Amino acid sequence: MFSKILKFEVFNGTKYQLLNYIKGFEKVNIVSGNPEVLYNGLKDKDMFQSFTSKNSVIIPDGVGTLIASRIVKNPVNEKIAGIDVMEEIINICKNNNYGIYLIGAKEDVLRSCIYNLKLKYPGINISGSHNGYFDLNNCEKILEDIKKVKPYALFIAMGSPRQDRFIIKNMEELPCKVFMGVGGSFDVFSGKLKRAPKWMINFGLEWLYRVIKEPWRIKRLIVIPRFLIKVAVDYKSRISSF
Ligand code: UDP
Repeated sequence: MFSKILKFEVFNGTKYQLLNYIKGFEKVNIVSGNPEVLYNGLKDKDMFQSFTSKNSVIIPDGVGTLIASRIVKNPVNEKIAGIDVMEEIINICKNNNYGIYLIGAKEDVLRSCIYNLKLKYPGINISGSHNGYFDLNNCEKILEDIKKVKPYALFIAMGSPRQDRFIIKNMEELPCKVFMGVGGSFDVFSGKLKRAPKWMINFGLEWLYRVIKEPWRIKRLIVIPRFLIKVAVDYKSRISSF
């Protein structure tokens, strides 16, 4: 059910198998494993420990991770976009009246995101929220609020590595079942940012769409070839040591 990419076990079932799989966890951190996040995970001891812990499931989010799984000759079933998993979990929460807590983005974006989520999922139980601009080492009030309302799912949209640091620091003490860093997803729900058209998503070109819309992202793409080279070198050394 997993593809080994570098030292990471990446989920290689379908999105629906993933939803089934996470049911078995008391607490789970769903990591959107795109090359940037996984590369950060290699360089940062705490992130590495978190991503490889038994409480984390890494999903193949992004065409770079798909290519990596082909390099290691253990191709993942399909790309699983973090935002799609987030929507599925929101649906589960809505159908069972489970609480959802949102942390991240600028205040106005967060407000529009909540407004639109309530329109899209009538009856959804958003038990709390906070914007993503606060001191990670000094956020007791936010933590206390989460403990009080005990949401089922906590979505954190502050980009990587900041959202990962928040999860690493607080997962143990927070009483939520699902923890998930969701990057720019609140921007998408708010309407500030559009997702790529379906055909681009299908051709694995979502990254290109994002670069066209936010050209400053181009410098973040450099990590993709670096990651793939690392994957290829690691794989070669693994098979030659057999
Ligand atoms: N963000 C935040 N706090 C910060 C920095 C960023 O809440 O200190 C938010 C930002 O407002 C935006 C999101 O994080 O909503 C950006 O995520 P990014 O696009 O980097 O994530 P990606 O989708 O690339 O993983």
